[in-house]
Amino acid sequence: MMAIFEYAPAPESRDIVDIKASYGLFIDGEFVDGSGTPFKTINPATEETLAEVATASSDDVDRAVQAARKAFGAWSALPGAERAKYLFRIARIIQERARELAVLESLDNGKPIRESRDVDVPLVAAHFFYYAGWADKLEYAGFGTKPLGVAGQVIPWNFPLLMLAWKIAPALACGNTVVLKPAETTPLTALWFAEICRQADLPPGVVNIVTGAGETGAAVVGHPDVDKVAFTGSTEVGRLIARAVAGTDKKLTLELGGKAANIVFADAAIDQAVEGIVNGIFFNQGHVCCAGSRLLVQESVQEELLAALKRRLGTLRVGDPLDKNTDVGAINSAEQLAKIRELSQIGESEGAERWSPACELPERGFWFPPTIFTGVAQSHTIARDEIFGPVLSVLTFRTPAEAVEKANNTPYGLSAGIWTEKGSRILWMADKLRAGVVWANTFNKFDPASPFGGYKESGYGREGGLHGLEAYLDV
Ligand code: NDP
Repeated sequence: MMAIFEYAPAPESRDIVDIKASYGLFIDGEFVDGSGTPFKTINPATEETLAEVATASSDDVDRAVQAARKAFGAWSALPGAERAKYLFRIARIIQERARELAVLESLDNGKPIRESRDVDVPLVAAHFFYYAGWADKLEYAGFGTKPLGVAGQVIPWNFPLLMLAWKIAPALACGNTVVLKPAETTPLTALWFAEICRQADLPPGVVNIVTGAGETGAAVVGHPDVDKVAFTGSTEVGRLIARAVAGTDKKLTLELGGKAANIVFADAAIDQAVEGIVNGIFFNQGHVCCAGSRLLVQESVQEELLAALKRRLGTLRVGDPLDKNTDVGAINSAEQLAKIRELSQIGESEGAERWSPACELPERGFWFPPTIFTGVAQSHTIARDEIFGPVLSVLTFRTPAEAVEKANNTPYGLSAGIWTEKGSRILWMADKLRAGVVWANTFNKFDPASPFGGYKESGYGREGGLHGLEAYLDV
């Protein structure tokens, strides 16, 4: 498609972040060396090394858990209103340093600055504000006021700082202390957060950050003195963790994969639905557990909708994450890119039709164009497996009952979207969809007051809102 007009580049300056050559672990309020072999974290848009980061061995994890245990007594004994002051302070520092955090997140993760600046970081601050508000009102939440103790938290790379906020804010509000392991490819904003904890004068040991690979995560999860485990990531690793925790007293919440249906009825506002579909699967390069990766479109409007969707995709700008005009950034790692390529190849070989708009991809870095597969059957791998990339599988339906059946025909159950003019149909569908979140005439809307979590292989437990407190209290 011919571009109607060209955009001049609008790069956000990276000067605001001062990345050091190397980083240690954050234990007991101090940055310390790790005893494992350090690893490099790179910018996925350029493959440039950003910093070298320490690996926490099981001994280091043990030190972190001991520090958290030691801090737990005084932290849990503080009146809720005092804990709230620290959380409010952290929230305000995040707002003050928002630009720096957004640039850093885009550098380490590859997501567009437009998203890190307007979605991730504001939601991070909102989460801390929200749970700060609960800290002195726990008795009204209905789950008691007794914290669990030390929380071991393992998070993925798709929303590094936001997943940290989802884990740390409720844990601290309820009086727990934490040991958190960020993903190997995106450790930097968690280390910045450690610095923010110091800036907020948070007592040493209340938050500890241990970096490293899966083994470090396994050491956190398996540590005998951890009382609560919270994990977000793949269903495969979620299973390993459930096994490791089985038979112990540890409380566990798992937030795993998804294969959400975004369901468009013939009476929906088509242009609005197109925006929702684009937001559903191309936001954050599709690295979203609740992404609307399966489009279910009512047969009578399939042609019209697909034509409008393809037209819209032709206007998406893929490239430099720090350019404020960019819509789709870099794929987070070479491994993830290989996985997306492999699944797309399988999609073609199983007979689905692949389409991408013409777009030039940068030479260095990890890139994948926005992609649509049509003619997808429910049995196809790309209709069943989580691709976790900018790839949409399109299926059709004729009746609402068929839409429900197809939407629920997945081992996952994290989210779903419904597009229709009819309120009664929305309610009827929402009641029948086996999904933790159902969006109506919108998609990928997040709010700290709203609980989030899955059915079936998407995990168990809820994060966010009043429900999110339950996971961190001895009910
Ligand atoms: P993982 O589930 O492997 O990673 C999530 C976190 O768990 C990371 O911090 C990881 O560390 C850590 N981890 C890995 N192995 C273990 C273990 N045995 N015990 C404890 N912690 C562990 O996801 P990947 O990054 O490997 O991504 C694989 C696939 O998972 C993706 O392609 C995507 O489909 C899906 N995924 C889903 C997410 C979701 O939100 N639903 C989020 C991320 C991925 P490290 O980073 O060092 O490996």
